Amino acid sequence: MAWFKRVPKPIAPAQKASRIPEGVWVKCPDCGQALYKKDLDEHLQVCPKCAHHFRLGARERLAMLFDGPWVEHDHDLASTDPLSFIDTKPYSQRLRKAQEATGLRDAIVCGTGVIEGIETEVAAMEYAFIGGSMGVVVGEKITRAIERGLAHRRPVIIVSCSGGARMMEGTFSLMQMAKVSAALARLDRAGLPYLSILTDPTTGGVTASFAMLGDLNIAEPKALIGFAGPRVIEQTIRQKLPEGFQRAEFLLAHGMVDLIVDRRQLKAQVADALRFMHSPA
Ligand SMILES: [Zn+2]
Repeated sequence: MAWFKRVPKPIAPAQKASRIPEGVWVKCPDCGQALYKKDLDEHLQVCPKCAHHFRLGARERLAMLFDGPWVEHDHDLASTDPLSFIDTKPYSQRLRKAQEATGLRDAIVCGTGVIEGIETEVAAMEYAFIGGSMGVVVGEKITRAIERGLAHRRPVIIVSCSGGARMMEGTFSLMQMAKVSAALARLDRAGLPYLSILTDPTTGGVTASFAMLGDLNIAEPKALIGFAGPRVIEQTIRQKLPEGFQRAEFLLAHGMVDLIVDRRQLKAQVADALRFMHSPA
């Protein structure tokens, strides 16, 4: 009998090729369940098991809010790369790639449509386009949507999903904060409602301007909403941040947002608010 025993090391099995065609199943990052993609589509990209809200594209957002067909505006507005900016690669190249990947010209889609019978202007940001960042085009398209609201006496809804101002357009991006805020002030003086819908994530210059200016600020569950990231804040104030900091629920408890609404009830809640706040001309 051998005086020592070799403990056999199990040989790691070779990675089994998945026989499930790509894109049919999606794993929920919250509850870990495998979800049938079609189910997820039917539930507006909300996990039917745990209500985790997956990110929703701008066009899907408009489709879920409007009753039927809607009219898109300013589709062809595109950035001119005013600073000829280059970081790890030229901004013009980054733009082209994002345009090819999303089929959009910039990080927002604006449309006029009807929400439970009420004509409304909706601007929805697209995270897949350079992190939903706000450059000149995003600012201009939102401003035009607000001005259309003013001209036709329609309420305005902005759905934010953004990493903030677009670094590659420098000061021009930051100027959009003031421009959009000024347009919203005119909407307010005209007595027209503005609903801000904050989705995951809403940060930086977007939070610091129009996302927080709604007559009603409505957040989706567990959305990350903040200005600077938690690490930057911790380093600045040299304090540990509380649990759940910068999540929608924390913001609701501290009076920064008015409502948290599950996406599957969002349209009905928005329509309720519009009926209460708005009397069509
Ligand atoms: Zn889940």
